Amino acid sequence: MHSKKEDEYINPLDLLEEEEDFTIEKIKRSESREEVTPSSVSPAGRGVFITGTDTAVGKTVAVQVLGMLLQKQNLDVGVYKPVQCAGKDAAQFKKGLNIKDTLQEINPYFAKEPLSPHLAFARQKIKIDISKILEGYRKVSSRHDWTLVEGAGGLLVPITDRYLVADLIRDLNLDVVIVSRLGLGTINHTLLTIEQARKYGLNVKGVIFNELKSSQHGVPEKTNPGEIEKISGVKVLGTIPPLKSFHAREIFSKTRKIDMGALTFPGKKTDTRQLRYWDKRYVWHPFTQMKDWFEIQPLVIEKGQGCYLIDSDGNRYLDGVSSLWVNAHGHRHPRLDAAISNQLTRISHSTMLGLTNPPAVELARKLARITPRGLEKVFYSDNGSTAVEVAVKMAYQYWQNIGRPEKKRLVHLSHSYHGDTLGSVSVGGIDLFHKVYKDLVIETDQINLPDGYRVPKDKKYPEYFFEELDRAEEFLKKNQDNIAALIVEPLVQGAAGMIVWPNGVLKKFRQMCDQCNVLLIADEVATGFGRTGRMFACEHERVTPDLLCLAKGITGGYLPLAATVTTRKVFEGFVFDYKQQKTFFHGHTYTGNPLACAAALANLEIFEKEKVLQNLRPKIKHLRDKLKMFYNLPHVGQVRQKGMMAGIELVTDKAGKTPYPWEEKIGIQVCEETRNNGVILRPLGNVIVLMPPLAVSMEELKQILEVTYRAIEKVTGKKT
Ligand code: PMP
Repeated sequence: MHSKKEDEYINPLDLLEEEEDFTIEKIKRSESREEVTPSSVSPAGRGVFITGTDTAVGKTVAVQVLGMLLQKQNLDVGVYKPVQCAGKDAAQFKKGLNIKDTLQEINPYFAKEPLSPHLAFARQKIKIDISKILEGYRKVSSRHDWTLVEGAGGLLVPITDRYLVADLIRDLNLDVVIVSRLGLGTINHTLLTIEQARKYGLNVKGVIFNELKSSQHGVPEKTNPGEIEKISGVKVLGTIPPLKSFHAREIFSKTRKIDMGALTFPGKKTDTRQLRYWDKRYVWHPFTQMKDWFEIQPLVIEKGQGCYLIDSDGNRYLDGVSSLWVNAHGHRHPRLDAAISNQLTRISHSTMLGLTNPPAVELARKLARITPRGLEKVFYSDNGSTAVEVAVKMAYQYWQNIGRPEKKRLVHLSHSYHGDTLGSVSVGGIDLFHKVYKDLVIETDQINLPDGYRVPKDKKYPEYFFEELDRAEEFLKKNQDNIAALIVEPLVQGAAGMIVWPNGVLKKFRQMCDQCNVLLIADEVATGFGRTGRMFACEHERVTPDLLCLAKGITGGYLPLAATVTTRKVFEGFVFDYKQQKTFFHGHTYTGNPLACAAALANLEIFEKEKVLQNLRPKIKHLRDKLKMFYNLPHVGQVRQKGMMAGIELVTDKAGKTPYPWEEKIGIQVCEETRNNGVILRPLGNVIVLMPPLAVSMEELKQILEVTYRAIEKVTGKKT
């Protein structure tokens, strides 16, 4: 219940009331409505995956029985058995449950030998196409109210060399029912299966026991279900007693105790309207004019799968900006999911102030190995801004600690963006974001660099860029005695609209800093972890910065974590006697969080094991080739790309390179249009950003490009 005061508190409610779907009365009604009950829910198109603790535990019997019990509830039942090795299950289901689908539809892959599918099909030289299996399920399930999908053996059975039954369940996005044998030894097998399912992030709906032999009815048979329920928290749906036949009368009389309500209950269904209302009422969104927010119907992203985001109504969208430049290997990657849940079984957080923890140590060692040569010490924090904040404070204190207190000034570049905390805003160069705080932040120096697009008529690019760089060099030389550090975003100035530097600029900055005894801070929060086609952007020019800032992609896009990695030289500038008070007095509460570090370790493991960087090459090339086509559009001024980062700048006229007026929200309009066509993007002003997960498939990449092209064509076409 809300107090009256609370109801009056938020004036944008007036706006909400104007929306037809959003009247306060309706919302109040929905707030007090009953929970959805199984009988009031139509489970159309729903399904469940039946797996076992082992082979021969009676999965097929369970499917047949559950199918008949569902039919008794007047539900149209379908069965899907994607892979089958020997046996006649599909034919039995077709007949026993009177299913109209063809045998081929019920069971797309059949092998003769009773072996693990990966072997059975390989021996018959049949190549299993997982996308065909997924598509087959979609077809079958769309025809029925309920589809029971039967796996092969248990969760870890390989369907192909690299794809397990658990992967399939995850990709089908289905809940799991585990079929288990009743009797001595079942606790172990059942709990192992539940644990493994959870590691994969699968939702276990329940356990069904099969009483395979009628003779045994001892203590284990009587107590096991209860014990398993107690230990695991998973509901036992019931026990199927020994059956002589699949005759309806026998089934219905003997399986009355199976809890079908728990099987078909959809769980807590997300109420999109309710969530939108509460969001508008209670949440303040980042970088968002909230007045506009009240006028839109935001998507509620409830799930993710691979490169797709899935909203609370089940619509799927390609994640075209990697959930704000972070996601690398797709959502729900099994290795990442498992790493986090494994770590959960140990500890979620302990402090790095006075203690250490295994994932943080291992990750530091790994980062020291993979970052440019010479970077050795890892200081953790939890986001990009803090990684920069740490670097800036370290650079400043370093000179004080080693007896050069006059080297105080910080230099940054025009168009730079390093985060939103005050230290990082101080080194920001984007007026729109930073101007308002100018009296609040520390004074810094800005080096002006061209954006590479609006070059004066009498100048040539990239020569013009290097001319400006000479001026920067003069500035550094002249003021070197007072300069502590120069901070740059190497190769790509992301938030400025994906400004890409010509080759050699980063190297030149390194040389300048060496000559002038100025520390170089490379902010690779956006460019790090593969985005530019190499692990780190600095690698393109073989540059080692003195301090390297990492965040975003460090955990593959799973959890907040950041690292500021420094050279031994910088680190040693802080190693003194305690009494000298030259410690780096900085540290965030969640520094070195074990869960986040475990995710980061799994992220790096995936890079290695799945050859992510090698696999990127054709995608980068495709992106490059296809982006050229965008110049055919009359309002595309410039297309910029480095690796998997791209920006498409829209202008009102190409010749004059005139920007669209800010208030026209052209970028936002284009992204609304792509969203309507299944691709989620987030613009930077008039620049449309494309930054899909590194794991994006060629097909998905093509779709992102095509949808974006058509959206720009449509939205800018309206303006001419
Ligand atoms: N530095 C760079 C180069 C960035 O692109 C960003 C974020 N876009 C940040 C720092 C700030 O990171 P965070 O939002 O995690 O604070």
